[in-house]
Amino acid sequence: MELKDKYDFVIIGSGFGGSVSALRLVEKGYSVLIIEKGKRFEAKDFPKTNLNIKKWLWLPFLRFYGIFKMTFFKHVGIVSGVGFGGGSLVYANTLPRPSKAFYNTGSWAKLNDWESDLNNYYSMAEQMLGSNKTPLAGPADEALKELSKSIGKEKEYEATNVAVFFGEPGKTVKDPYFNGEGPDRAGCTFCGACMTGCRENAKNTLDKNYLYLAEKKGLDIICEKEVIDVECLSDESYRIHFQNSTSLLKQKGKIESSGLIFSGGVLGTVKLLLKLKKKSLTKLSDRLGCDIRTNNESLIGIINEKNPKDFSHGVAIGSIVQTDENSHLEVVRYGKGSAFWRITFVPLAYGKTFFKRVKVMIGSVLNKPFRLTKISLQWNFTTKNSILLFMQTLDSTLRFKSNGKGMHSTLQEGTRPTSFIPEAEKLARLYSEKVNGEPFILSTEVLFGIPTTAHILGGCVMGENALQGVIDKDNKVFNYNKLWVVDGSAISANPGVNPSLTITALAERAMDKIPFKNAQA
Ligand SMILES: Cc1cc2nc3c(=O)[nH]c(=O)nc-3n(C[C@H](O)[C@H](O)[C@H](O)COP(=O)(O)OP(=O)(O)OC[C@H]3O[C@@H](n4cnc5c(N)ncnc54)[C@H](O)[C@@H]3O)c2cc1C
Ligand code: SF4
Repeated sequence: MELKDKYDFVIIGSGFGGSVSALRLVEKGYSVLIIEKGKRFEAKDFPKTNLNIKKWLWLPFLRFYGIFKMTFFKHVGIVSGVGFGGGSLVYANTLPRPSKAFYNTGSWAKLNDWESDLNNYYSMAEQMLGSNKTPLAGPADEALKELSKSIGKEKEYEATNVAVFFGEPGKTVKDPYFNGEGPDRAGCTFCGACMTGCRENAKNTLDKNYLYLAEKKGLDIICEKEVIDVECLSDESYRIHFQNSTSLLKQKGKIESSGLIFSGGVLGTVKLLLKLKKKSLTKLSDRLGCDIRTNNESLIGIINEKNPKDFSHGVAIGSIVQTDENSHLEVVRYGKGSAFWRITFVPLAYGKTFFKRVKVMIGSVLNKPFRLTKISLQWNFTTKNSILLFMQTLDSTLRFKSNGKGMHSTLQEGTRPTSFIPEAEKLARLYSEKVNGEPFILSTEVLFGIPTTAHILGGCVMGENALQGVIDKDNKVFNYNKLWVVDGSAISANPGVNPSLTITALAERAMDKIPFKNAQA
């Protein structure tokens, strides 16, 4: 592609924040370039199962350039997406709106009446992402419904809103979403494989909506390049340096732009900005890297060996129940054959110290040695497995700091994030009874006592001024002109539910505040 000498806007990262920014800015008449470090995929490029780790994982040092990345810090393990479309390629399509507490807590609470202001932007985001109710309840969803009944929360149980096209299963039709302007889509086959990449062209990933439309309207795109440096040339001019991310030769390039949008997700944006604060963007707020949040998640696998039903049937997350004022529970599945997580699962063992957890784990194994061995060697792992995703709005925050090569985590406020949440354990044991299964957790949680999150947020949060936050309420970076942060790192409170819809809605709002090009003074 022939690049321009200078763009009105460069966007770093093509996830939810980057994709919305790209479309809305080209629609406003700006020249825009998006730079993405991952690859661009067609449906057929995704692996059939997550055992094809070369195609599934993003591990550049092993030359694996897939869509799923795992990053471990001292206090949290983070899973995230990489590629043209960011986390949408690997996510479970679930698009809940947060409950009230989200709008009234965190560093942004006093800056706006967020609940009413964001309402329309949520609707826009839902429409663009093709959010609709899951029409099918698979065996795992039925079990969650049973559980809801037994805890008196039947009314709180519902099918999820998901970004999936539910036409006739497997049948391709002309664009059903954008008056024929969008790409062809095919009906979901309920194969459960959304988190290894949808090979059926049914999942509404960002390359099928925002990015697709933006490219048609003139967006320039470069993939497989990682932005490594930014120079501030003047008040309205930045030079962006990038290098190859998928080849051994780290060939470098640079481009200039008047405006710059950081949309690399928490792991991309915060890491890059921490580096730039020491070099070219020294006036960035000292709050950079603060208020890193998770959804206070707990992930518990329930494996059964006798239940004859196929637990992989359905979309990745087919149902959700609000179990109390602060907590939600979802039931998650992978497609047939995606047995990667089996090697990392160990019997559920909660406890504050390593020794306590190992003692509980050994106790469980000694109690049911044959059953647990049989279950963990289960051949049809994904048809016999559900993963319970428990999330809470309660807050605990970390701080990311630069450590030369990258970032490390430190404790900030409140209690550290933990996956050892008693309510989650109780619900997991109850669900196990319903499906005649046994609960398991990730071995990293038992060994290191750290939770794993798919929903890392914050690090560039909003504030009244640079003493309180990194960006203002319109996502503009304090102390700089024409710099924005538009992604999960701008989320300034804990939504308590899966955050992509919220990231999209806030991005819509931020872009709405930017005038049309020919309307500028
Ligand atoms: C397995 C899994 C399941 C999930 N399920 C759900 C779900 O059901 N619902 C939900 O709401 N959320 C879900 N999430 C979370 C969701 O994917 C993220 O919250 C969301 O993608 C974050 O959006 P973002 O805009 O912050 O950035 P991302 O979507 O993370 O995109 C950032 C992009 O920037 C690129 N990038 C980073 N740094 C650079 C750089 N320096 N140069 C160039 N490119 C760069 C990255 O490669 C990436 O593609 C899930 C996540 C995972 C991993
Ligand atoms: S269930 Fe299967 S077909 Fe449906 S969106 Fe997920 S991966 Fe695609």
